[in-house]
Amino acid sequence: MNSEFDVIHRYFTRPARNALLGTGDDAALVACTPGMDWAVSVDTLVAGRHFFPDTEPAALGHKVLAVNLSDMAAMGAIPRWITLSLTLTSALAQNDTWLKAFSSGFFALADQYQVELIGGDTTGGPLNIGIQIIGEIERGKALRRNGARPGDDIWVSGFPGEAALGLRHLQQQVTLTAPEATSCLAALHTPTPRVALGRALIGLAHSAIDVSDGLLADLGHILECSGVAATINFERIPRSPALENRLQPENPARQLAIDCLLAGGDDYELCFTAPEVRRDAIAGLVQTTGVNLSRIGTIKTGKGMAVLTADGNPLILETKGYDHFLAR
Ligand code: ADP
Ligand code: MG
Repeated sequence: MNSEFDVIHRYFTRPARNALLGTGDDAALVACTPGMDWAVSVDTLVAGRHFFPDTEPAALGHKVLAVNLSDMAAMGAIPRWITLSLTLTSALAQNDTWLKAFSSGFFALADQYQVELIGGDTTGGPLNIGIQIIGEIERGKALRRNGARPGDDIWVSGFPGEAALGLRHLQQQVTLTAPEATSCLAALHTPTPRVALGRALIGLAHSAIDVSDGLLADLGHILECSGVAATINFERIPRSPALENRLQPENPARQLAIDCLLAGGDDYELCFTAPEVRRDAIAGLVQTTGVNLSRIGTIKTGKGMAVLTADGNPLILETKGYDHFLAR
């Protein structure tokens, strides 16, 4: 039988490296680097709500950390320390295979980004995983949501909509081919946080957000915080082959594909704005970061968002949910 302390010691205790004091005392101790500010954020994933309870545990360990790293990426911060609040069912607390796989997935990503687990809390109850993350950012340099200015280009990294298409596949709303499923389920289960991109955007971007709730919804937050409007060129939004096929006019899954592309969520890509003079510098980041970057629209004065097709007409969005974005 694993006690609470067995779980902590066996699976979640590592020697402190960058912390003054790590797991094992009443609190961890960390020192802030001179000239840097802390960026602090927390995200909770609830079984049955944010993930299927039978999700492969190594992937789950990766994902809970990835969504937190993504928030650091969106601020341009260097992720440094994490604490983990873990609520486990009694069956999972005794399931060493699950605990081992979960903690391995978690630490593999933590090691990759040199972010250190310095403490947490372990309790019994319905599976629930909360992570608090602390990053560091050069004082005054953080990428905020409120910095977009009229004339800015709007950019997005990667291929938004892939994760949502993977989810629709699991929900049997769409049938993907085997290679499509592999790529979309990887996007859903093991997203890559864009930390290096976020760091590279300091001094180039005026504003940034990570796309967790859908491209238009999250861009909407930038617009609101900055007090500006936007025009999006629908055809410029990058599409993976799986989405591109389904966006063809006669494809029965076209509406679902539009939905995934514009409002899918779970992408953990960065959406950011930058002045036109930074266009070449940003395009150059594709080489240095290895991440696809697409210029999808322009920031305007005023309020609201228009999504235009190639002929310059507003995209006719059949799904009711979209009124929310267009009517503003
Ligand atoms: P306290 O009773 O003082 O709150 P706990 O008994 O909850 O302390 O935890 C003991 C130590 O183990 C603390 O240092 C805490 O940060 C750490 N810890 C507890 N749960 C976890 C976890 N899931 N991951 C990492 N460290 C943990
Ligand atoms: Mg205590």
